[in-house]
Amino acid sequence: MPAFTTRFAPAPTGYLHLGHVVNAIWVWGMARAHDGHVLLRLEDHDRGRCRTEYEQAILDDLDWLGFVPDGATTSDFRAGAHPQRQSDNSARYEARLAELESQGLAYPCSCSRADIARASGAATGTVTGAVTGAMTADTTDTADGSELRYPGTCRTRAVSPASTLARRIRVNAGTLEHFNDRRLGPQAQDPDLQCGDFLARDRRGNFTYQFCVVVDDLEQGVDLVIRGEDLLTSTGRQLRLARLLGRTEPPLILHHPLVTHADGRKLSKSAGDSGVRELRERGVSAAAVLGQAAALAGLDYDGSPLGATDIPRLFAAMRLHP
Ligand code: GLU
Repeated sequence: MPAFTTRFAPAPTGYLHLGHVVNAIWVWGMARAHDGHVLLRLEDHDRGRCRTEYEQAILDDLDWLGFVPDGATTSDFRAGAHPQRQSDNSARYEARLAELESQGLAYPCSCSRADIARASGAATGTVTGAVTGAMTADTTDTADGSELRYPGTCRTRAVSPASTLARRIRVNAGTLEHFNDRRLGPQAQDPDLQCGDFLARDRRGNFTYQFCVVVDDLEQGVDLVIRGEDLLTSTGRQLRLARLLGRTEPPLILHHPLVTHADGRKLSKSAGDSGVRELRERGVSAAAVLGQAAALAGLDYDGSPLGATDIPRLFAAMRLHP
């Protein structure tokens, strides 16, 4: 029985870059140092943006770097359908959403982005509150990764469920979500102010990042979520949704520093200078890539080459339950 289960959950919408390697270092480092398990989960819920080529490359690069998941291996993923691949989970998402809808916790929404902008009294593109990760592709995200707060237009309007596939989660006002981030300390977020009732499924029938990730973490027994600080503002709404789905024991949360370019820009999957593929092709060794990533990970590491099996010692002194 592992002490905890955590996950590495890349979206195959691009190649791995140093930001992912930093995440993998935290995920595998914490797990291997403290008897945890690591699930590999391919977050390919957004079919339009995911490509098999990227998925294969991610699996290859993980092997090359020496990150071996517990349970399903990278070869299992190569072999085909797998419950830890989100595109194989639609039936589960459907069932969970239907459950929420029958309890009145989710409702159909017929608003377009323009409707929401108008109802918020905002010019299109004006944003408030929460910022979600550029890597996560919530279909409500604007190009800069921010989103409009949903003003609740369809909350009390009886939109026919048959007229649209879009469903929103009812986020009640006035309740803060508190959690103790294992690295950043106590946090309080108000999902109602940040995003309002958020989308679980969009008009085209795509389940959103927010919804899939919470259902998966619940059903796959993930009890430690480790991810970059760019996703910090998503955490309150995810904890809220987990509770609405009946999760009584929320997962532990740890956000690690985000790797940025020298000028502060977030790395993207197309970032040529930080892509694991490019570094590999240039003849850089896996140990050099791991060392470089560890130096950027907020671990007080000097950047010298590092083998995957040496990573746990960087986490030995860290306590999950201080
Ligand atoms: N799929 C997300 C990514 O590519 C991570 C999701 C999460 O950790 O919640 O960064």
